[in-house]
Amino acid sequence: MRIYLPEVKERRGEALQYRFQGKNRDYLEESAAGDNDFTLTLSVRSSDDKIMVSGRFEAGITVNCSRCLRPFRQQIDSEIDEIFTVSPLPDKKSSPEDLAEETANQLTVRGDYLYLDEYIRQLFIISQVYNPLCQPDCRGLCPGCGTDLNESTCSCVDEAGIDLRLLKLKEFQPDR
Ligand SMILES: [Zn+2]
Ligand SMILES: [Zn+2]
Repeated sequence: MRIYLPEVKERRGEALQYRFQGKNRDYLEESAAGDNDFTLTLSVRSSDDKIMVSGRFEAGITVNCSRCLRPFRQQIDSEIDEIFTVSPLPDKKSSPEDLAEETANQLTVRGDYLYLDEYIRQLFIISQVYNPLCQPDCRGLCPGCGTDLNESTCSCVDEAGIDLRLLKLKEFQPDR
């Protein structure tokens, strides 16, 4: 996926609208990608030696709950606001892959295209929540017997007589 820059530069100062749709699986590993699509809507503007890009990245991905480990679908909805610097083409020939990587890592563009593939791949990574929860009050697995406490209960009590099912709650108690 790419944006043809001469078109943007020609309409200097004016924002051009782009909408890209693609398959998650082209950018993510299969287990997270599922059979889902993503949408990238961008507003692109040129000014001097800068390309200003703003917009939205939306995707549904499959992740595992950090408490009960069950897979669930999580909606990604990220705002994009980026400024790319236009740089001259290097002497040696660069492949679109090289340019895509440079655009994503250094926020620069060279030549006629702003290549988005590597940028999209990184968007998937940074948009993911670190400790995803299937529901805000997911009760997780019993540390004693592994029972999914969202589905059933167990009667685990540890040697100190503390109900293992309450350990999760204990972690949230502030130190006094
Ligand atoms: Zn859960
Ligand atoms: Zn248990």
